[in-house]
Amino acid sequence: MTPENPALIEFIADRINMGIIVVDREFRIQLWNRFMQTHSGFSSGDVEGKNLFDALPELPRSWLTKKVDSVFALASAAFTTWQHRPYLIRMTHNRPVTGGVEHMHQNCTFLPVFDSDGKVGHVCITIEDVTEHAVYEARLRHAMAEIEYLSTHDSLTGLVNRRTMEERLDGEIDRARRYGTPCSLVLLDIDRFKDVNDTYGHLSGDEVLRSIAMTLRDTLRTSDTASRYGGDEFVLVLPETTIDGATILAERIRERMAKNQISVRGKKLSITVSVGITQLRGGKRTRLELLNEADQALYACKLGGRNKVVVFDDSLKTTTDEPSMDSDPN
Ligand code: GH3
Ligand code: MG
Repeated sequence: MTPENPALIEFIADRINMGIIVVDREFRIQLWNRFMQTHSGFSSGDVEGKNLFDALPELPRSWLTKKVDSVFALASAAFTTWQHRPYLIRMTHNRPVTGGVEHMHQNCTFLPVFDSDGKVGHVCITIEDVTEHAVYEARLRHAMAEIEYLSTHDSLTGLVNRRTMEERLDGEIDRARRYGTPCSLVLLDIDRFKDVNDTYGHLSGDEVLRSIAMTLRDTLRTSDTASRYGGDEFVLVLPETTIDGATILAERIRERMAKNQISVRGKKLSITVSVGITQLRGGKRTRLELLNEADQALYACKLGGRNKVVVFDDSLKTTTDEPSMDSDPN
């Protein structure tokens, strides 16, 4: 490289806040600026005149060779961003806010340097420290994921919330109708839960809700959805499941709850649940109708003494359209 004014170029290269490396066609390092010396730990004396890959064996050799060769061949610039490749050369950064990012994240450009005869004689690689961008983007992604989780899940039990369940149920109703597959809906309500709160306190009640959520999670298939519908009610959406299959599952859950006491704050609590079940049976039936039927079956459980599973049939039909959230038979 024969710059017009080497001292001026060196002055600029050493003061600019980005890494500058210049290589010739044989990948011999012709310039290694102060930024590179500070962050890479190699002085210009260590590396200048050496082959880039001998000086830095960790470099992605075949990728970088292709990149630089294309700049020589096409005489036009090339780029790489940290999203594509977090860094070209592993270096330290000195950003105060890094959130555990150890290495400098880098955007790089590969610029053709023309000789006096108009040919590309060298390639100048610039390295910009974009660690902060990377950190903030990672934080933003994390925050978005958290918001998404909070808006779709119940914070007490970790189950999906009512809105998410309703969306899934709508999807499953569509799917079941299109493919003629079965789909069942289960509505489960804790028996005499108010007494648990009144006797042992609200925090103990919360633990009971969490414990039931865990039982539901353990019992269901991954294709099923267990949701907290609200208060002490849970809704299970069971795709590809007939009413008989749903009844077996609901009985298993009911029995498990009735048999196993729940340990809460050093005490063993006996909890039972009532369960109403319905299924999609042809026709244009809506989510609201299904929930309403499951609610009527649940109401029949409560009337029938609780700790039961009742399957909806037309004899249970009432004229109510809205599923009630607070069935109170007594
Ligand atoms: P039933 O057998 O008829 O269902 O009687 P119940 O006492 O369970 O009556 P109901 O289902 O109507 O009562 C629900 C109770 O759930 C009322 C409320 O105090 C309690 N509850 C609702 N949400 C929460 C919660 O997040 N934590 C706690 N600890 N209790 C809750
Ligand atoms: Mg209840």
